[in-house]
Amino acid sequence: MRRPPLALALALALLAGSPAAAAPAESTVAARITGAALIDGQSYAIVQSLTDKVGHRLAGTPSAERAVEWALKEMARAGLSNVHREKVMVPRWVRGEESVELLAPSVQSLHALTLGNSVGTPPGGITAEVIEVTSLDEAKALGEKAKGKIVLFNKAMNRVGQGFDGYGAVVPMRGAGAIEAARNGAVAALIRSVGTGAYRLPHTGATHYDDKVTKIPFAAITAEDADLIHRWIAAGETVKVRMRLGAKNDGEVESANVVGDLPGREKPEEIVLLGAHLDSWDVGTGAIDDGAGCAIVIEAARLLRTLGLTPRRTVRVVLFMNEEHGLSGARAYAERHDKEVANHVAALEADSGAGRPLGFGVAGGPLSVALVSRLAAPLAPLRTSSVKIVEAEGADLIPLQARGVPVLGLLQDMTTYFDWHHTNADTLDKIDPIDLALNAAAMAVMAHAVAEMAERLPPSPPPPKW
Ligand SMILES: [Zn+2]
Repeated sequence: MRRPPLALALALALLAGSPAAAAPAESTVAARITGAALIDGQSYAIVQSLTDKVGHRLAGTPSAERAVEWALKEMARAGLSNVHREKVMVPRWVRGEESVELLAPSVQSLHALTLGNSVGTPPGGITAEVIEVTSLDEAKALGEKAKGKIVLFNKAMNRVGQGFDGYGAVVPMRGAGAIEAARNGAVAALIRSVGTGAYRLPHTGATHYDDKVTKIPFAAITAEDADLIHRWIAAGETVKVRMRLGAKNDGEVESANVVGDLPGREKPEEIVLLGAHLDSWDVGTGAIDDGAGCAIVIEAARLLRTLGLTPRRTVRVVLFMNEEHGLSGARAYAERHDKEVANHVAALEADSGAGRPLGFGVAGGPLSVALVSRLAAPLAPLRTSSVKIVEAEGADLIPLQARGVPVLGLLQDMTTYFDWHHTNADTLDKIDPIDLALNAAAMAVMAHAVAEMAERLPPSPPPPKW
């Protein structure tokens, strides 16, 4: 694994002591920010505070409300102005007790997590034969064979590159598996965890239903347990599983996004939004997803303020509620600020963990890439200046992107991210403090540059179907 260029970082830190000119060159700004982030940074302390003091924070739970209180305090402490909550209605989904047991050909308990939004089973559970598919298309083609069965979606997620590609190839089964299984009469569904780790960890995540199709319970089992079932089926055995899931959907409750500003010095009405999501799943402590992102955006704004680098436009931090379970915070923000949406000159999101920054993704064309490349150029010594076109940048920005706001964000090394994502092991120890500080620095440099530039980025094209 490559390590951060420490010698370089220290050299930059020394530069950070030099006094600021009236309009410092962006490379000087980048050096000051990076030095401060590495030597005197708060990003790790911020995510430690969130994960140790609040822990996990599923939208709709008392813990998520404690997270809102935490964010109000932490953003004020970072020196942001007008820190406030903005109302969001969120679903209240309760996991309840859960167990998945193999009853035949051998008796073993399996490691499982119910998928978010799943309905539960009757109290006695559902016991049925398991049949296996590797895609939604195979599930659609099952026809009568699915009737009365539990359909297991069993396709391994591969490590592909450093981004979301491996995840994107498999996650549609988690989203729509219960619908396609139920269409053919299945009574429940299981999925091999969408993740890359091999630690017998189940990975949860959201699933959804179609109101026209029977809602059947849906849970993730570990890769190891999916392999076990596969071996029995391949040997010609009849596999029976009992699923007891206590999950239920319990209406909606009020929650909040948390918003705070670093007001611009010339055009305070124009906004560069830095977003991350405050909620997490109800397992682990939401350190990499998305405590790290919360720390990156709060710290980016704090660095600009403490270094006296107030840009021309306002830098706004938004911690969105309920990214995981339906993007309700993202929608609420876009609706509430619909009239000012034209004043959102850019939106950046940090929701890719804490792996070291590699560059930036921008939803746009060659002109957007050229402009963002120019802004990212001072980060070349950190190898964080490459710019790539992406279809979307951060789920929470999708409603803004749909309204034409230019969206961009950090590309990060996600090689190990999906080992821990949505599991009990998403905890603080998975975060490298130096990598996290570099992310905050890169975010602050880009936020400053976008908030300072003379021109504006072109609007992003509409996001893919959402
Ligand atoms: Zn996330």
